[in-house]
Amino acid sequence: MKKQKILEAEPVTHNVVRLKVEKPKGFEFVPGQAVDFALDTPEWKDELRPFTFTSLPQDDHLEFTIKVYPERHGVTDQIGKLKAGDSVLLGDVFGDIHYKGNGLFIAGGAGVTPFISIFRHLNRKGELGNNKLLFANKKEEDIIDRKFFKNILGSNFINILSQEEVDGMEHGYITKELIANQVEGEGAHFYVCGPPPMMEAVLKELKDLGVPKERIVHEEF
Ligand SMILES: Cc1cc2nc3c(=O)[nH]c(=O)nc-3n(C[C@H](O)[C@H](O)[C@H](O)COP(=O)(O)OP(=O)(O)OC[C@H]3O[C@@H](n4cnc5c(N)ncnc54)[C@H](O)[C@@H]3O)c2cc1C
Repeated sequence: MKKQKILEAEPVTHNVVRLKVEKPKGFEFVPGQAVDFALDTPEWKDELRPFTFTSLPQDDHLEFTIKVYPERHGVTDQIGKLKAGDSVLLGDVFGDIHYKGNGLFIAGGAGVTPFISIFRHLNRKGELGNNKLLFANKKEEDIIDRKFFKNILGSNFINILSQEEVDGMEHGYITKELIANQVEGEGAHFYVCGPPPMMEAVLKELKDLGVPKERIVHEEF
């Protein structure tokens, strides 16, 4: 594990924090990938949890966007208390989500993190194309990086809220119809990332819609 210093710790939403962390020399990853992460204390150093890089490979620092669950009394509860100057431990880099071509990105909550890095990457290269993001959350206050996505994607940024009705946003859970309405023509890729129940439901909907497995890229959070 590599010991790295936290450069900045800032809130993103009411329960999500963003950590800017020193980048080890020669450190490499692909947008969408994650790393085994631990707290640098005797009590927590062996509790590895995966977190996704939301920075770009060429940036001079690493960035993580992390949802904190205080009620679990686990690692993220501790992460919520970190501040600049503290250190963290970084291990192996891994992850199944990579950009394979134009398509629909479907995220639930903190499952949007691999897509932050991918969309930043596409935006920087001027290759956003007709990629769309369908982002499912409970409430409006839970939407991570709303301004960023709205700015770069405009009407290709579709929000759906399960516990709140808000003008201009869908209400309820992701349905087959909602997915089908976002996709024109054949050949689109589907990128899915979120908590287990959402993943299960969306993968079944994609199967029912007849999307071939090789066009689905997914990871469970
Ligand atoms: C490849 C990958 C990349 C990821 N990247 C990110 C990321 O960038 N940002 C991010 O925010 N998250 C990310 N996650 C999810 C993140 O790893 C988990 O949220 C994190 O590990 C939770 O750690 P924890 O110690 O707080 O809680 P856990 O280890 O999940 O839980 C601690 C204890 O809480 C209890 N518990 C567990 N689940 C629940 C539940 N649903 N309800 C009630 N109690 C529960 C259990 O008793 C458990 O032992 C990623 C996951 C994967 C697989």
